Amino acid sequence: MRLRSEIILFFLLISVIPLSIVAYISYDHSREAISDSVMATLLGATENTGNAIDNWMGARKNDIRVVSQSKVVVCIDKKQLHEYFGSFQNEYRGVYREFFILDLNGSIIFSTLDRKGNAGSEQYFKEAANGKLFVSDPYLSESSSSSEMIIANPVKNNGTITGILAARVSLENLYRIIENIDIGKSGEVFIVNKDGNIVFNKNRSMILLLNIDNNYAVKEVTYEKNGIGEYVNYKGEKVLGSYYWLPLYRWGLIVEEKIDEAYSGVLTLGQLMVTVSILAVICVVFLALVISRRLTEPIKSLENGALGLVKGDFKPIPVSSTNEIGRLTEIFNQTATELLFMRKKLEDRIELANIDLEEKNRELTQANDELKKLDEMKSEFISLVSHELKTPLSTIKVSAEYLESDDKADPVERKEILRIIIRNIDRQTRMINEILDLSKMQAGKMEFQIENVDIGETVKVVLENIGRLALKKNIAISLDIPESLPDVLADKEKLIIVLNNLAGNALKFTPDGGRIVISAKDLGDSVEVRMKDTGIGIEKEKLEKIFDKFYQVDGTSRRKIGGCGLGLSIASGIIRAHGSEIQVESEPGSGSIFSFRLKKA
Ligand code: ADP
Repeated sequence: MRLRSEIILFFLLISVIPLSIVAYISYDHSREAISDSVMATLLGATENTGNAIDNWMGARKNDIRVVSQSKVVVCIDKKQLHEYFGSFQNEYRGVYREFFILDLNGSIIFSTLDRKGNAGSEQYFKEAANGKLFVSDPYLSESSSSSEMIIANPVKNNGTITGILAARVSLENLYRIIENIDIGKSGEVFIVNKDGNIVFNKNRSMILLLNIDNNYAVKEVTYEKNGIGEYVNYKGEKVLGSYYWLPLYRWGLIVEEKIDEAYSGVLTLGQLMVTVSILAVICVVFLALVISRRLTEPIKSLENGALGLVKGDFKPIPVSSTNEIGRLTEIFNQTATELLFMRKKLEDRIELANIDLEEKNRELTQANDELKKLDEMKSEFISLVSHELKTPLSTIKVSAEYLESDDKADPVERKEILRIIIRNIDRQTRMINEILDLSKMQAGKMEFQIENVDIGETVKVVLENIGRLALKKNIAISLDIPESLPDVLADKEKLIIVLNNLAGNALKFTPDGGRIVISAKDLGDSVEVRMKDTGIGIEKEKLEKIFDKFYQVDGTSRRKIGGCGLGLSIASGIIRAHGSEIQVESEPGSGSIFSFRLKKA
């Protein structure tokens, strides 16, 4: 579930549950209160109605009592009686329909309506004749077809009953009083007699014409019970009703109100509660939406930022608040920036390492190429060495064979051949010595005996070695070595090897008729020795390589000039062992200058 839905659900849960409980409790309380108040209204209405009936009936009974004891009635003066009752009827307009007096036999001896007859069998007569004031049950009058009743009271003269005074009393006045009592909007008042006949109702047409004795409230009240309850009335409506027995008149007073209307307040309250609850839920959902949006939006931005960071496309997230989330966003931005910075640094380092690696790779390839070249050079050297070693051997062999075959050879010729043999042996010896020197030097086994060496003398030894060849090639060798040149510190034998080599090369690579200058100069703390020739020279790009082992500018085995590419390597090794370097300056066609310096003795 997404965070937003969770927040909304959480808000709903924490608001709806208590809201429902509160709503239910207040609804229940209010329902009870409303029900109590409705019942109180009903009971009030019942009581008011009962009181009104009592008052009105009491007044009527009182009237009859007073009238029955009046002098006019006791004396039965008809003329006066008409006047007396006439004024009485006028005063109580419509209440008293007829006053009449009966003798003790029940015969009507006076009537305000001049009615005749006998009522000896009527209950009111019997009860009054027994000395009691009697109120009859209501009945429908024949003349007006409206309800009325008879109140009868004995007429006494000096304590003896002399007759009965009776009055037909219209109930219309009482009905009007009852009608004016407030019994609520939908309230209805019934009065029933002991038999369940309606004695009073708003609807006059029912009075004494409708019997509702099978109704619950009517049954209860005619059993002379009082109470209040919910039941279905005679119209089939659910009602809340209060019933009250009035024993004086043997009437049951019922006040009813329709349940729907009685509890309309409760219904309205329920609807109000539901409306308020729905509104509250809507408010909560809206609030939850707003809050969850406020909470989840920055988190979403953080999520997007983190994704961007992973993809390497990070833009700082705008900080919109100062709360924890705002702080978190700030920290995230900071961390992301640092991460990016570190990443950049790392990338730069990787790039540098890559460049370095490429460089190393190039060097390795180069070294590999060089190794390959070395390998080639070695093969070349082997064939060269074999060739160089073989050549003098062949010469030696041919010369020896010649000497062997011809015993009587000319002594001069013989000497010449022997010289050839010796020269070739020398050449071979030199070559083998070179190879031995180099391997000694490489193994670090070459020993140096440093002593004071006179350059001039040393150069002379070298000249003896190469003099013959120079003469043969018609190459002039000149020396430029001052007499006063100081001695140097060197191993003389090794120095001779170096000078032999340099001079040998100068001779080898200088065409016939060329020139070689060997010079030496005092430089203060050292002496510089130079070997200058007018030979073929060396191309600039090959200058560095001539000191490598087995390297020859024209390294093919077909070249005419002898040597195996070790001379300069040995010479530079020896000079390096003296703490110096052999320098070379050369240009193709313009000759070469090889020079080195040695410490003064
Ligand atoms: P090598 O036995 O071939 O002479 P070195 O080591 O003495 O071997 O010399 C290496 C190479 O340097 C020679 O083969 C040659 O090509 C070049 N070289 C040396 N000295 C000279 C020079 N004076 N003039 C021209 N080329 C020279």
